[in-house]
Amino acid sequence: MITRRLPAEVEERAAAEFELVPRVENRPLSEDDAIAALQEVDILLPTLGDALSAQVFEGENARCKMLANFGVGYNHIDVTAAANAGIVVTNTPGAVTDATADIAMALILMTARRAGEGERTLRAGQWTGWHPVQFLGHHVSGKRVGIIGMGRIGQAIAKRAHYGFDMQIAYSSRSPKELPFPAEPLGMGDLLESCDFVVMAVPATPETHHLMGPAQFEQMKPHAILVNIARGDVVDETALINALQSRQIAGAGLDVYEFEPKVPQALIELQNATLLPHLGTATEEVRTAMGHMALDNAIAFRDGRPLPNPV
Ligand code: NAP
Repeated sequence: MITRRLPAEVEERAAAEFELVPRVENRPLSEDDAIAALQEVDILLPTLGDALSAQVFEGENARCKMLANFGVGYNHIDVTAAANAGIVVTNTPGAVTDATADIAMALILMTARRAGEGERTLRAGQWTGWHPVQFLGHHVSGKRVGIIGMGRIGQAIAKRAHYGFDMQIAYSSRSPKELPFPAEPLGMGDLLESCDFVVMAVPATPETHHLMGPAQFEQMKPHAILVNIARGDVVDETALINALQSRQIAGAGLDVYEFEPKVPQALIELQNATLLPHLGTATEEVRTAMGHMALDNAIAFRDGRPLPNPV
């Protein structure tokens, strides 16, 4: 069972390889849906928002033995509970890296250069013409960007920022990295205090929950901008709204939200926030590549071969 519609090419390959149990609803699996699906199919191809929580795996004799997740992030799956139930989990790393890094750069640029605000003004028919002090934003080139979580996506953002925008790179990660460009490893406090842009690129885990909270916003510079392309709950959204409203920080560029798809009205009303609807991997090519990668894992599992991308 594939839990959501995927690009046609991927659905066709899936239908050629497997006996597909159709799912017509294009909404995430509820816990009840998930329990039923685990009883019904051998392999489930789930994605973001499907409620694969610990209690879903408590039932006896689930037929399903594999979750071939579509996406690199798998915080919607309780992987430990799945493993205890004898279910293996795979994901789709790499396929998503460049597209998500591109969206991070878009958010840096849009927020610093007030692109969303400018476009809203123009579309509302309120643009009265070029003016020397109109929509003055923050310069991006040559500034200092701090990346929290220097994994695949973090490094792809750093590469763009360094080679494309002459930016200085600082990062905070669990382990030191060998990088082909200069990048300063720092503790999170030092990073927050010294950077003009802070980008969240960590996975959502119990350790990263609310990594950015009131104390962390206090450490940021007043002209600094926070970008989150990771997962909503790595940022305390209420604290972020307070920091934006009080101008403790200058802006935020968000692709993900703590209670997605709910976006607080207070955030919507803030002109200094750029708000994208989780566009990180949303290109035809990338979603197709992700689909094929998830299927490669499912096929390897079916054929008893080593899994390309176990989590
Ligand atoms: P990755 O290669 O595993 O990188 C994650 C990095 O975070 C690693 O460097 C890891 O450190 C670091 N990290 C983990 N826990 C940390 C902590 N507590 N403090 C500091 N650093 C920590 O994953 P990725 O492929 O870059 O993806 C990152 C996340 O982006 C995914 O999990 C997903 O949730 C999100 N994402 C969002 C979109 C979107 O559409 N917006 C698209 C794709 C992915 P180590 O290297 O030491 O392990």
